[in-house]
Amino acid sequence: MVSEVQATRLLLLGGTREARELAEKLANDRRWAVISSLAGRTREPEALTGQVRVGGFGGVAGLETYLAQQDIGIVVDATHPFAQAISLNARTAAEKMELPYLRLCRPPWQPGESDRWLNAANLEQAAEMVAPGCKVLLTIGRQELGPFLQRSDIRIVARMIEEPQKPVPSNAELILARPPFRVSDELALLRDKEIDVLVTKNAGGSSVEAKLEAARELGVDVIMIARPGDAPAVDAQSVDELMQLLQRHHAT
Ligand code: NAP
Repeated sequence: MVSEVQATRLLLLGGTREARELAEKLANDRRWAVISSLAGRTREPEALTGQVRVGGFGGVAGLETYLAQQDIGIVVDATHPFAQAISLNARTAAEKMELPYLRLCRPPWQPGESDRWLNAANLEQAAEMVAPGCKVLLTIGRQELGPFLQRSDIRIVARMIEEPQKPVPSNAELILARPPFRVSDELALLRDKEIDVLVTKNAGGSSVEAKLEAARELGVDVIMIARPGDAPAVDAQSVDELMQLLQRHHAT
């Protein structure tokens, strides 16, 4: 039997479904003592198994201090594919502390033959790509609406988990909802709101993929925002792959 003392302290950077799954899987594994970390953006985050801390670390230096203070032995980065700063900070801090850093990142979506995707490099470009007069469905979260809300010549339906901090202009309607979403719901939403264009980040994963199938079926254009280019290399694309890597780490 492995004793509590021998457990490796693991910092799990989260904010994703994968991180929640990992926390649950590792909770009963005595080889790891997991601390899940959330940025604190969501007022009512979904329940997490095990120890949780909330809030930024204060950049690379703050994270280094935290890793030392908590005697962390390994950093697992399971943050969102678009959470660029925390991933870069975590890799740098882990390198400086000579700790292993493992990044879990789900693969991006790929267009099918009948998909009508328009590729945007970033949010600003995506907002410029919406033709005047169009009705657009934004599924990009509440923090990044800015470039679209400046467009008074389009109509906006924006779906997000929690309300934005600032009020939105009269050409924008908010829908508060939490994934997963079914294809039938997405079809109804696109039809009922008479959406011309869907805007999404290329987050990948199955829980929010139904909107792409619905857009395909209805011939709705999709503006697909590419992932940030400058991100740490991906070590695992799924929770199972990451668990296998941890198994190997523990064995060495
Ligand atoms: P970001 O731009 O990469 O991070 C900005 C700052 O927030 C980081 O420098 C760090 O502050 C703090 N931070 C971010 N993630 C953290 C974590 N897991 N634990 C502690 N501090 C964290 O991140 P973001 O895009 O704003 O995303 C914030 C969180 O929401 C992430 O955890 C991500 O997994 C989740 N999320 C993001 C998206 C998205 O589209 N970006 C979508 C769904 C979920 P310090 O420098 O002070 O340490």
